[in-house]
Amino acid sequence: MRAAVVRGPGDLAITEVPDPAPRDHEVIVAVDTCGICGTDVHVLDGDYGVVRYPVIPGHEFGGIVVAAGRAARGLATGTRVAVDPMDYCDACSMCRSGWTNMCLNGGGLGTTAPGALAGYVAVNGARCEPLPDTLGLGEAGLVEPLACVLHAVDRLGPVLGQDVLVLGAGPIGLLASALLAMSGGRVDLVDRRAERLAAGSRFGARRTGTAVRELDGTWDVVVDATGNPAAVADGLAVTRRAGRIALLGISGPGRSFAFEPFDVVARELTIVGANSVRHTFGRAARLLAAGTLPVELLHEPPLPLTATGEALERSRRGQGLKTRVRLAEAAA
Ligand SMILES: [Zn+2]
Ligand SMILES: [Zn+2]
Repeated sequence: MRAAVVRGPGDLAITEVPDPAPRDHEVIVAVDTCGICGTDVHVLDGDYGVVRYPVIPGHEFGGIVVAAGRAARGLATGTRVAVDPMDYCDACSMCRSGWTNMCLNGGGLGTTAPGALAGYVAVNGARCEPLPDTLGLGEAGLVEPLACVLHAVDRLGPVLGQDVLVLGAGPIGLLASALLAMSGGRVDLVDRRAERLAAGSRFGARRTGTAVRELDGTWDVVVDATGNPAAVADGLAVTRRAGRIALLGISGPGRSFAFEPFDVVARELTIVGANSVRHTFGRAARLLAAGTLPVELLHEPPLPLTATGEALERSRRGQGLKTRVRLAEAAA
């Protein structure tokens, strides 16, 4: 099969690699389309913690089951699936208490195991979500980012009737805006790139602005989808007393801002981190299949595998919203 391989930091190649064979608990998925996200750019740049190079990146995808290991039950060949890319052990103290995304032995497709920018990918059969008929394979890659956002919404708790500020209008910020508006929040959306705000109202935003001060207010709930320390500092400054701030964005290592602990005490703020997917994958698939999110606004036509480098650069520069790579021709 053909695959995009990051041989080491900064070194991407489109090359022929052996087809994967399923271990007992695995199935082989013929990848249809794979979305590119910031994590893939960090894998290429070599600044994303534990990555085992060489690695095939890519973890936001849909495809068709073409083979199954002996112990992978319930997934017939031909089943259309999205796949939770998290690898967790189900045995450590975190997994056993339900915090599978905090697994002490965890990893993931596209970082510690071969990912989906390839004709085929071997995945844990138990992490496959059969797709509802109304969800196309080209859209299935959005299940994973939506499941991450849904986990953040779970972590935040009720927002009904509350004022919510979302920082960052990339795919994660827009999906967060939509879910928080669906949950009854009154959502405002900020991104310094004005062109990204155009879709804001379709994703539930009441007001949009290119800077927090443009909107002139304070909010019960602030959600950061930028990972930019300056944006988090801005968000913290406009969080109301007893308010909550959720952090979803990934900063590079060592990026920080001045922080006054007593301010959190005095205002009784709640700061919530939200990392990946926790019991939200199936719900995200059903939410997407319901067709109420205007996901067509996130997508342009997918690029071929040979243009993976360009796709990663587009994601890095924030061009377009969700860049995708089509893999259906890479299986031969
Ligand atoms: Zn991602
Ligand atoms: Zn575990």
